[in-house]
Amino acid sequence: MQMILEQTVKACSPWCTTGKVASYIPELGKADTMALGAAIADVKGNIYTAGDYDQLFTMQSISKVVTLSLALMELGEEIVFSKVGMEAVADPFNSIMRLEMDKPHKPHNPFINSGAIVLASILPYSDNDAKMDAILDMTRQLTGNTSINVNKEVYMSEKFTGERNRALAYFLSSTQGIDGDVEEILDVYFRHCSMEVSAKDLAVMGATIAEDGRNPYTEEEVLSPEICRIVRALMVTCGTYDGSGEFAVRIGMPCKSGVGGGIMASLPGMMGIGVFGPALDYRGNSVAGARILEMLAEENGLRIL
Ligand code: GLN
Repeated sequence: MQMILEQTVKACSPWCTTGKVASYIPELGKADTMALGAAIADVKGNIYTAGDYDQLFTMQSISKVVTLSLALMELGEEIVFSKVGMEAVADPFNSIMRLEMDKPHKPHNPFINSGAIVLASILPYSDNDAKMDAILDMTRQLTGNTSINVNKEVYMSEKFTGERNRALAYFLSSTQGIDGDVEEILDVYFRHCSMEVSAKDLAVMGATIAEDGRNPYTEEEVLSPEICRIVRALMVTCGTYDGSGEFAVRIGMPCKSGVGGGIMASLPGMMGIGVFGPALDYRGNSVAGARILEMLAEENGLRIL
């Protein structure tokens, strides 16, 4: 497996040149287009790594898996899905159009920006710091890495330039989709998107979700099997935004991506895979990262769909 992973990362590296780093968040624009790494964490406790597997980057939309899991754990399925839908959309992750056109104005799913902003608003903790402590704690348990934290530069960069997310949040506030101080809610959203991880952390997180909530490395029970089932189902249908259909067909794994260049895949009963490559396609998914997953699926039978 170690050799396969190293060869796959090497073979996919030329794909980095076909993507662009996300520059709409200025701090992300500084990433190295050619960086590429991957890690596999199997459910027996083995870890395989290749390339820039230990380089840190921000989770961005992958953090939405954490906030969804936490919301389901604290509030239950009924309340969560009364506030956000569970349907895929063919629009970009930060699109405003459908939110305004649909009635009621409910975000289609928890993995697009509007859905995640709603989740940030309903997490039942006393204030923003308590919300962020719970999100960080859950991320550390899922990854088994107690040193995970927020990258302050990326957080500030998102906060000062997040006009699109502000537009979504103020619209949601005007239609009672969120309650409370809009800037405070956005602050939690920007902070959790800026949590910093490595491809290896994502692999362990994927393995924990694959193992129905038991982290195979720390042996901690982090989530219930039912929550993991919901998360994996939404990763298939909505995890890579408007590219989710193509990911399901070509890669055949539940995946969640982020514009920091990470993709986390979770193969039930088998393994978690984390990839990192900040050069993105036009939908915001890592180009070379997706090729790594596709090669692993195609040549090594790691598809589950
Ligand atoms: N923080 C990013 C944003 O709000 C997350 C988007 C993403 O990773 N797709 O735009």
